Amino acid sequence: MSLIKIENVFKIYGDEGCENEVRALDGVSLEIDYGEFVAIIGSSGSGKSTMMNMLGCLDVPTRGEYYLDGIPIRERTERELSDIRSRRIGFIFQGYNLIPSLTVWQNVALPMTYQKVNPGDRYQRAIEALEKVDIASKAENRPTQLSGGQQQRVAIARAIATKSPIIMADEPTGALDSKTGVQVLGILRQLNEEGTTIILITHDNGIAAQAKRVIRVQDGRIISDSAPGDDPFIMSQTKKEVASAVGDGTTPSGALRVENGRAAWAGARAGGLTQ
Ligand code: ADP
Ligand code: MG
Repeated sequence: MSLIKIENVFKIYGDEGCENEVRALDGVSLEIDYGEFVAIIGSSGSGKSTMMNMLGCLDVPTRGEYYLDGIPIRERTERELSDIRSRRIGFIFQGYNLIPSLTVWQNVALPMTYQKVNPGDRYQRAIEALEKVDIASKAENRPTQLSGGQQQRVAIARAIATKSPIIMADEPTGALDSKTGVQVLGILRQLNEEGTTIILITHDNGIAAQAKRVIRVQDGRIISDSAPGDDPFIMSQTKKEVASAVGDGTTPSGALRVENGRAAWAGARAGGLTQ
């Protein structure tokens, strides 16, 4: 049984068949297994956020079936959906969605109140999650006192602290500088190695190349689904990088090769974005 299975899912805004109809999802079928690290990539307006909202049980399809962990999601009440979400899914949003009036640790602890975690355990679990992303020293600060990268780490801690088997991240590096983006991606990769299923939304080939599977969407449809090394756009970008890196004649061409769909220096540590 797959962790996620959607069958011929449509999400239609406006009036179907009329001029104002928007097919944000246009007949999508997809299966995701336990432990996968999937990037969903597409340009702005291609339907990525709609897909994440659907997969994350924040929204329900206009038509089509969705099974999460074998549970049919269609025709659930809002309360049931909220229950399913809080037990299974940690969310990371591009805008962090931290509450300014709460301290950092209180923000991290907030989803635990919905999970009915014992109040005495919430602080400890929040601190442990903050330690994992190296930001526990800011536990008593307010989010506004933190940089963007620090706020995103708090948002990741909030997702980790729920101990959810799935983390869904919508453009988690979109508002960050590239160095901080690499750090955030490193944290997600580590979580995946520890067994968490990661679903990452991005418009960036370099970010998608860090996943183990790349699903490309366009106009609400899946146009390719492959390992990053087989994704046509990531491959062509990588070839360009290789060409520009070896093209000046000063670099021995054998030193650079393609690894996981990215240009990589032979002998360099695999996986970093900065190779
Ligand atoms: P992405 O995240 O890839 O940028 P979205 O999933 O946000 O794309 O949007 C997909 C399409 O659906 C876009 O054309 C967008 O304008 C439309 N859309 C999204 N949400 C709504 C909504 N609430 N009402 C009407 N149209 C929407
Ligand atoms: Mg979006």
